[in-house]
Amino acid sequence: MTSKLLSMSVTETLAGLKKKEFSATELIKDHIAQMEACRGLNAMITETPEQALAQAAESDARIAKNEMRELEAIPMAMKDLFCTKGVRTTAASHILENFIPTYESTVSQKLKDAGTITIGKTNLDEFAMGGANITSYFGPVENPWKSKTSPEKKLVPGGSSGGSAAAVAAGMSMLATGTDTGGSTRQPASFCGIVGVKPTYGRCSRWGIIAFASSLDQAGAFARNVEDSALMLKVMAGHDAKDSTSARHEVPDFAALMKQDIKGLKIGIPKEYRVDGMPQDVLDIWNKGAEMLKSAGAEIVEISLPHTKYAVPTYYIVAPAEASSNLARYDGVRYGLREEGKDLQEMYENTRAAGFGAEVKRRIMIGTYCLSAGYYDAYYTKAQRIRRLISNDFAAAFEKCDAILTPTAPSSAFAIGENSDDPIKMYLGDVFTIPASLAGLPGISVPAGLDDQGLPLGLQIIGRAWDEVTMFRTAFALEQAVAFSAQPELIKVA
Ligand code: GLN
Repeated sequence: MTSKLLSMSVTETLAGLKKKEFSATELIKDHIAQMEACRGLNAMITETPEQALAQAAESDARIAKNEMRELEAIPMAMKDLFCTKGVRTTAASHILENFIPTYESTVSQKLKDAGTITIGKTNLDEFAMGGANITSYFGPVENPWKSKTSPEKKLVPGGSSGGSAAAVAAGMSMLATGTDTGGSTRQPASFCGIVGVKPTYGRCSRWGIIAFASSLDQAGAFARNVEDSALMLKVMAGHDAKDSTSARHEVPDFAALMKQDIKGLKIGIPKEYRVDGMPQDVLDIWNKGAEMLKSAGAEIVEISLPHTKYAVPTYYIVAPAEASSNLARYDGVRYGLREEGKDLQEMYENTRAAGFGAEVKRRIMIGTYCLSAGYYDAYYTKAQRIRRLISNDFAAAFEKCDAILTPTAPSSAFAIGENSDDPIKMYLGDVFTIPASLAGLPGISVPAGLDDQGLPLGLQIIGRAWDEVTMFRTAFALEQAVAFSAQPELIKVA
């Protein structure tokens, strides 16, 4: 196998296709072979090789006619939360195990129209609820990276978009979609040593993405480098009449605009993100990242986001409340699984009892409780107020700086099984990503180094709403300075 095709960037690939150095069919065949070789990681729920090869033939015909599209023949892995017409879409849940949508999500349609070729639907935490990809009905995903100190351990890829992140890190696909409600694209990108971006809320259409928490959910992009993620986001973004929360903002050419240097940009370091018990490696990489941006011409300023400590508890009221409402539609009548009962009520109960996993049930119960008449004000209204204060914190911070630099996650990848008996500990894994989600701001995770176990750690750059350009610009400068080139062992073997 030509492993070269498995580690190229989008720009290099498009150039190679154009010069006929290799064909779209060869490119897709290599990625399918890698997907098959990596089946042990359990990154895919459904593989779609026949469809991919048919599309590759179409791409080759277009290339021959000089009619290449923006992302012609680029191998893509699609999170199994995006509805794909005629292809099973499960949300990694038993309740949707055999659901075949009759429609295509806007984002996956846009990516397809730009020429990308989906080789499979990736595994995730059930309904995107989780941070380690261990709540999937289809079993956990394994991270292609191994710890140097305990190589026998199987590590989590992060979550919820763990299958997508593992697919890109292992060379199965060049790009992958994620979704990000509280960190699900940024945190797995950090755990898997790749780039993951969540745009401003409203930048991409949510139409056809199975809903978790509608006021937070956004589509995300995974890629091998910042430029590829910028190219992908441009295709995904834009107003869609089918989603009233998608905005009518113009979509800039992120990849072209991000190459400007960062001289004079002010980068904020939030003092409240120095949380207790953060590993020294994470702190060191954060400090080094700030130094690098300074050397590239940015000015580093300390900022304060005083309500940070309330972000995780606030999220775990808002997100489950919205989830409990969104998931009410899975009742055995309209979609997916049905477990019969003696009457309608019992059929509902049996279906939902059998169809949802433990984490999803936990969140439905938390959400229903917070929305109940007696507790609505005490929990839900209070959480909404704190959400506003968190958003105000960012607004004040952005008076002093142009972008914010933080660690993406408080740790590197941990072993499958670790932390799983302690939901609160798992929830705290998103302390650095959740605040930007609550405020609707764009964030990107860039690989910034390896920890003492040889595992990747990412740094997050948060931008102003609708200012993905400055976010990408800072991320690109950081990427240049870090020059991260480590890859998991698996890719080299292929
Ligand atoms: N880990 C967070 C959660 O469990 C975020 C998930 C997400 O962004 N989809 O809710």
